[in-house]
Amino acid sequence: MASLSLPLALYSGVIIFLLGTVFGSFINCLSYRVVKGEDPVRGRSRCVNCGHELSPSDLVPVFSYVFLRGRCRYCGEKISPRYLIAEVLMGLLFLFAFIRFGLSLSTMTVCGAAVILMGLSLTDLESYEIPDGFIIALIIWWAVSVLLKALTGQAWVRYLTDGIIGGVSVAGGILLLSLIFDRLLGKESLGGGDIKLFFAAGLFLGVASSLFNLILSCLVGLAFAFLLKKNKIPFGPSIALSTYLSMLFGPMVTGWYLSLL
Ligand SMILES: [Zn+2]
Repeated sequence: MASLSLPLALYSGVIIFLLGTVFGSFINCLSYRVVKGEDPVRGRSRCVNCGHELSPSDLVPVFSYVFLRGRCRYCGEKISPRYLIAEVLMGLLFLFAFIRFGLSLSTMTVCGAAVILMGLSLTDLESYEIPDGFIIALIIWWAVSVLLKALTGQAWVRYLTDGIIGGVSVAGGILLLSLIFDRLLGKESLGGGDIKLFFAAGLFLGVASSLFNLILSCLVGLAFAFLLKKNKIPFGPSIALSTYLSMLFGPMVTGWYLSLL
């Protein structure tokens, strides 16, 4: 971010955080509707409890929740803190991407992917399922990022081929392992949605960072299982968080590792 002066960098940071909260609000609502089997885009937002249609002033990310003290304006029922958490978290994910990559195509790519990853995480947490729509959205967003790289004269051919090889090799490897484990254990060891997610993540990450992502996902999954003291938690959110971190730090970590060899 050497090119931005400090006040401008701070100002951009605040704007990007707020933009993140807006996307957090949107993707949280979309995931809620996907789980409930409603039309994800059409229809006005309503209070989950009383069904009252919400006005624009009820829908300002973070602020509405704070000003209404986490309660519905119409019926007074408590609003799930999930709204606030998703909004703030999304804002932070946007902000960290900006701090890492500055005002750039990389930041945009990471932020877009983070929105989709958040959507599938929220859905997986509630329904133990990653709908294909999220995977397709990730693949389309990756294709857009390849196109934008090409249009802005960046090294897009390497990004494209490394992505495809990363996605196919890592997801293919996991598929093979899970088929072997399924046979040995006599039950499904890894959901099909998880393998598809590793494939889509691999497109963005390339070969080296995909391997890092695989290891990190398992560590994050173990950490979640330990912290939540549950033996059945969906794997999707762990892969999503790990993918986000790999997008930010994967090249750094793999570069350091390769320098040791
Ligand atoms: Zn209400």
